[in-house]
Amino acid sequence: MSEEINPFKIAQHQIDIVAEKLKLKKGIYEFIRWPHRELEVHFPVKMDNGDIKSFKGFRVQHNNARGPCKGGIRYHPDVTLDEVRALATWMTWKCAVVDIPFGGAKGGVICNPKEMSKTELERLTRRFALEISIIIGPEKDIPAPDVYTDAQTMAWFMDTYSMIKGYSVPGVITGKPLSIGGSQGRREATARGVMYTVREALKHLDYKVIPPEVWKKKCSEGELNDAICDGEEDSGYRIDDATVAIQGFGNVGSIAANLLTRKGAKVIAVSDSKIGIINKDGLDIPKVLTHKSRTGSLNGFEGASEEIGTKDVLEVECDVLIPAALENQITEDNVDRIKTRIVAEAANGPTTPAADRILHEKNVFLIPDILANAGGVTVSYFEWVQDLQQFFWSESDINMKLREIMVKAFGEVRDMSQKHQVNMRTGAYMLAVQRVADAIMIRGIFP
Ligand code: NAD
Repeated sequence: MSEEINPFKIAQHQIDIVAEKLKLKKGIYEFIRWPHRELEVHFPVKMDNGDIKSFKGFRVQHNNARGPCKGGIRYHPDVTLDEVRALATWMTWKCAVVDIPFGGAKGGVICNPKEMSKTELERLTRRFALEISIIIGPEKDIPAPDVYTDAQTMAWFMDTYSMIKGYSVPGVITGKPLSIGGSQGRREATARGVMYTVREALKHLDYKVIPPEVWKKKCSEGELNDAICDGEEDSGYRIDDATVAIQGFGNVGSIAANLLTRKGAKVIAVSDSKIGIINKDGLDIPKVLTHKSRTGSLNGFEGASEEIGTKDVLEVECDVLIPAALENQITEDNVDRIKTRIVAEAANGPTTPAADRILHEKNVFLIPDILANAGGVTVSYFEWVQDLQQFFWSESDINMKLREIMVKAFGEVRDMSQKHQVNMRTGAYMLAVQRVADAIMIRGIFP
């Protein structure tokens, strides 16, 4: 592996590139290269066997010029301050690119949740929530789930913060269970946002997309089969026959596969952490989902024509490639074997900077992570708004508002990249960094 780079250095390098193009004032540029505020905490947790173990955690707030900070909390043995800094920085740009009124933050605790019991995780979460409660709150910084944290973790977090305050504060955190102020549509939101941006990219590249009125007519005349017509809950365009390969079959990858299939795309390859499966005629995604939930794996799926390695799925010839697993999957080492027209970065940071340059040279149209996977934070924003108003919206309202935001953001990024003759990633960063710099300037520098 020739290329191994610190994520925060990558995040800063991305700012360096656009600062020059935007001719940012030096002081503003130097300010946004670094997080605004960082909290590092060490705290003890009682383990089930009576031992006391000390943990280290972080909450990093990159920028709050456009609104309260927003970003997930990650539990993982490899969490580092630089990783959290990078993720917080990317959250600032992600919120700005879809134009929601948040800045960026991220948190993490160095721990191995796979080796901890549920009660140990609850005590760790409650103590960490207390430790960072001095800088979070619905009007300051609103955490959410990330790697190895889930709706239950968010519920413990919300409860702890509410105990400190003496009243219930649902708006302190998003990604909560529905019963305590979670939002409809949050589970599907990231994948749904990926689907909307893929559809816009296909339209942009003149792929065969069927306008709503035409497919409705085809459905009513029985020209399209029921599986495709059924569940068409929005009035957007359908994608016909674009072939799709997806790495990662978890929350984002599996739901994206399902939604894209329902829009008429042909998902020909998917993989999880153990294996990849292919069928050039199109995998039956509902059946793959059933097989995966029954057996816990893609292994042995009968409708596959071939089983391949998890990374091989990236090299399958297709129209749309969706990395939806881990960071640094498309690298200098495999980029030459990638045969796709579009890459939609559902995962955060799946493409290394060197591979990014090569994809651009190969004329691959890339939908960058800060745009492609921004559907999750957008519906988190809806959750926060609903919590503050104590008024909850229907799932179809959520999906409609999400589509509006994603389609608008895609158009703005595309226009920016065309205007400045840059790729979509640089276009997205230029749009986001400019919005944040404008907010800093219009507010003025205190005192
Ligand atoms: P997940 O844990 O539900 O799924 C991850 C999937 O990747 C699983 O299918 C797993 O088996 C697979 N995987 C793990 N290692 C792999 C490997 N080496 N090769 C191939 N597949 C592998 O996670 P998720 O929520 O679906 O998140 C996926 C990506 O999307 C992450 O990069 C995450 O940061 C990003 N993302 C998620 C959200 C969200 O709302 N869940 C929002 C924004 C970005």
